[in-house]
Amino acid sequence: MNSRDVDLLQDGIFRIRGRSRGSHSYVIRGSKGNMLIDSGLDSNFPGLKESLHSINMKVRDIDIVVNTHEHFDHIGANRYFQDSSIIAAHRFAANKMSFDDRYVTLYKSGDANDIRLHVHLWLESRSRLDLGSFTFDVLHTPGHTSGSICIYDPERRILFTGDTLFAGGVLPVIAESGSTGDYINSLKSLQTRMINEVYPGHGEVSTDPQGDIQISIEKAFKLLESGAAGEKERGGAAASDY
Ligand SMILES: [Zn+2]
Repeated sequence: MNSRDVDLLQDGIFRIRGRSRGSHSYVIRGSKGNMLIDSGLDSNFPGLKESLHSINMKVRDIDIVVNTHEHFDHIGANRYFQDSSIIAAHRFAANKMSFDDRYVTLYKSGDANDIRLHVHLWLESRSRLDLGSFTFDVLHTPGHTSGSICIYDPERRILFTGDTLFAGGVLPVIAESGSTGDYINSLKSLQTRMINEVYPGHGEVSTDPQGDIQISIEKAFKLLESGAAGEKERGGAAASDY
């Protein structure tokens, strides 16, 4: 990974593309603090560090790491930040991370590390993250997992979605702690928000959030009708079996 993996999305917002199956990481440089959204795969950390350097940042410049949910490909590199940054996740994700619940975090041999992840800040829906020049609202959006959140900037109308919403309405797997019914409810609540751009955990930026939400809701209803639990939809660049 190198600077070619870093994209400036908006003034102060960078995407560091995830390699392999790892999630993207997003860096937000605020006037009162710097935030990293998802640390990505443990094995991608050397590239993440290099990408931070390419935007003149070091690991210790990240004040807070917010995990969109508890899956290994989003939290794996937390251990490199947790001694110098606040680690934050929704309480349903924090619980699983703190107890090293590998059934729901999906850690597998080769991904796992022996250092217990620590979550300093257990978030609730409507928690606010105030970085000065950026202010975000935490929206609890269970479905893909129970601890999934979206991070919303109502001023810029942008939404970081983790694995809850992908460009093109690619349906995420409903994972071990998730629920298709919860997923539909979460997407319906997102439908009420003003959103211009979606920054997902995998794949490309979406500039048609309402269209993607509608497609995802329709697919989720079909999943319910089929009686399948956790059926995976694979396709396109945003293969979302995470
Ligand atoms: Zn996931």
